[in-house]
Amino acid sequence: MKLLAPAKVNPFLTVGARGPDGLHEIESVMQAVSLFDSVTLAPSDAFGVTVSPAGAAPEDDSNLALRAARAFAELQGGSGVSIAIEKRIPVAAGLGGGSADAAATLVGLNGLLDTRVSKKALEKMAAGLGADVPFCVRGGTAAARGVGENLSVLPCPTPVWWILGISGARLSTADVYEEFDRLGGGRVEDPYDVADALARADVERLASALRNDLERAALSLAPQIRTGRDALGAAGALGVILAGSGPTWLGLARHEMHAVAIAAAVQGEFARVEVVHSVDHGPRPV
Ligand code: ATP
Repeated sequence: MKLLAPAKVNPFLTVGARGPDGLHEIESVMQAVSLFDSVTLAPSDAFGVTVSPAGAAPEDDSNLALRAARAFAELQGGSGVSIAIEKRIPVAAGLGGGSADAAATLVGLNGLLDTRVSKKALEKMAAGLGADVPFCVRGGTAAARGVGENLSVLPCPTPVWWILGISGARLSTADVYEEFDRLGGGRVEDPYDVADALARADVERLASALRNDLERAALSLAPQIRTGRDALGAAGALGVILAGSGPTWLGLARHEMHAVAIAAAVQGEFARVEVVHSVDHGPRPV
């Protein structure tokens, strides 16, 4: 069984204090977008994973998709599975690629083994794998609270167009959160304005409501990425925001042609530029 696993962007990410479990409280809006890894699952006697292009992500037990397969088998039974991942989502770029692969593995195994685990129960399993995995199981657009497991669907009646400015650099999520704390931390806020702008398909309002509390910390660790943000702004993006913990920049466009024009203008500034739009689903078999 082969599935497409969408990347995610965060039009809104506020971060609060670190809890006793070491995880930060967040209040965010996440949106699945049209950049996909492909995840192929086949029954096997053992658990294993391969990644192409080779070296793009680990092929050992630290691979989040493999951890998802083991977690699924622990709760639902079944023998091993061999997982083949084709990475298109850049790694450690703030686009949730590992979480997307893990979510696709859970959804795929549920179909492959005909175990009929409910979406809610899959999301609960997903929460044990990482803060973004429950959202990746669900897909579409949603507000997430707590440590990411408390999700509510947000209406998004028309596609939102984004330009992804992807640099060669990688930023570790853990390092960015540590720097965030060192710089004084913050507190969570309600994503009302972003939710309302999405529901009304008001892209100008969405632009002014974009927020990512991790931006200052990411810029402090990697000041060289600032030029990417400035280039997207100068090329006419309605708003520019860091993707998750970075270093990818998200430019917001009015519509597809606008996004394509901005992408062409900033091509020289980044290692890779992608034009994507929001999608209303999570991992899907193809
Ligand atoms: P997030 O925004 O959720 O923190 P990210 O997009 O910044 O995610 P990922 O691409 O998920 O980061 O990768 C983070 C780390 O996870 C990488 O350093 C990589 O070694 C490890 N990893 C484990 N499994 C995978 C996978 N299937 N795909 C990509 N990275 C993986």
